[in-house]
Amino acid sequence: MTFSLAIVGRPNVGKSTLFNRLVGRRLALVDDQPGVTRDLREGEGKLGDLRFTVIDTAGLEDATDDSLPGRMRRLTERAVDMADVCLFMIDARVGVTPTDEIFAEILRKRAKHVILGANKSEGSAADAGVLEAYALGLGEPLRISAEHGEGMPDLYGALQPLADGFAERAAEEAPETDVSVDEEVSEEADESLPEITATKPLQIAVVGRPNAGKSTLVNKIIGEERLLTGPEAGITRDAISVRTEWGGVPMRIFDTAGMRKKARVQEKLEKLSVSDGLRAVKFAEVVVVLLDAAIPFEQQDLRIADLAEREGRAVVIAVNKWDIEDEKQEKLRDLKESFERLLPQLRGAPLVTVSAKTGRGLDRLQAAIMKAWEVWNRRISTGQLNRWLEGMVSSHPPPAPQGRRIKLRYMTQAKTRPPGFVVMCSRPQDMPDSYTRYLVNGLRESFDMPGTPIRLYMRGQG
Ligand code: GDP
Ligand code: GDP
Repeated sequence: MTFSLAIVGRPNVGKSTLFNRLVGRRLALVDDQPGVTRDLREGEGKLGDLRFTVIDTAGLEDATDDSLPGRMRRLTERAVDMADVCLFMIDARVGVTPTDEIFAEILRKRAKHVILGANKSEGSAADAGVLEAYALGLGEPLRISAEHGEGMPDLYGALQPLADGFAERAAEEAPETDVSVDEEVSEEADESLPEITATKPLQIAVVGRPNAGKSTLVNKIIGEERLLTGPEAGITRDAISVRTEWGGVPMRIFDTAGMRKKARVQEKLEKLSVSDGLRAVKFAEVVVVLLDAAIPFEQQDLRIADLAEREGRAVVIAVNKWDIEDEKQEKLRDLKESFERLLPQLRGAPLVTVSAKTGRGLDRLQAAIMKAWEVWNRRISTGQLNRWLEGMVSSHPPPAPQGRRIKLRYMTQAKTRPPGFVVMCSRPQDMPDSYTRYLVNGLRESFDMPGTPIRLYMRGQG
């Protein structure tokens, strides 16, 4: 479970510097959006063992006076609304300015959690500014230096308990923990979830071997559909995402092809496209594994597909260059057979044939993506699950190691994205994997859940 962190503050306090520090080379996947929204950047942040999305509001033209221009205010408000946590930065060498106070006001009103960072705090020139920062009423300021990397453990210390909180919130609804759930927290969870799904475009990564046709596919999609925002000219970032509307659904598509071209000189191609793919996979909700029909299920394809599954992403397999296949029926049969044999962990994931070149099959691909995403987010009621479990147990009871039958008592869905289930049972340690697989496959079929990893945990009753 990750969370999002927005870095906000007036220009020149060091937001970009910190963003770059947190995101590092993972800046690879950056959303450069022209127009009104161009100034929000996202990257995959890393601090110790914490992983999170960093939203950066930097890049605004300088506000020369101490007013807060409308555009900056709107942008900040948007970032604040998007984020689970806001890091509000001031420049400790300058102290608190009237513009900082306006930001503080926005944060007090709108932010879910605020961490106050007094930046440029290396050395004693910052002491006075740090003291002033207390007056903002946003808690104790953290002394940090984005440029020198100082104060990062303190930032970690401030984020870590919040991260734990988000993880707990994600695992909510396990009935036995209900009593301990603080009312405020559950209220907040209820409110924030639908909002996030409503405002965020569906995030897709198109991954696959070099020459599978990734760029062609992405270009076709954004060429035929309305391109809302796209890569900015002249920016030589490793990879880009584009926002588009595909079949009326706002989507953000990460294309990993660009990265490869840039990095070709530095590293061996094979190795690199897997690590590029990895980064894209982490960003995505749905991963489209694009295969070349002529050479499907190569080692590299299998690795990236397996990775997507292990990362818990919804997966759609798309077989490209279908336009040049002659024996389509026969080929399709072969593909399905190879898929089942080589990627049993992705059983049930949709396999769609497409031609990125002609655009054929793209509507089916879009539908498969939507379906996989929907399933990935799906929640099945406890009542339904337990009725189902009863049926599964009576048609095929669990084994009885050492002559004592394992009892399945109760089942609930503990999480979504991807769906995770907990089965309460006697002696979970004795439960063979084959029975767990029986239940997982049964869930997939009974509740029609293609294209999403399903996690199922056996748990003893404490
Ligand atoms: P932004 O406009 O808030 O994104 O600010 P930038 O990240 O572009 O930083 C503005 C200026 O402050 C740059 O010249 C940075 O090098 C400098 N800066 C950033 N962090 C620090 C820091 O920790 N200490 C010092 N002394 N300068 C910093
Ligand atoms: P990437 O490396 O995965 O981004 O692949 P590209 O998009 O650059 O495509 C590699 C080559 O395959 C190019 O020559 C494309 O024209 C070609 N190609 C891509 N999609 C198709 C397709 O659907 N049919 C055919 N016949 N060629 C395709």
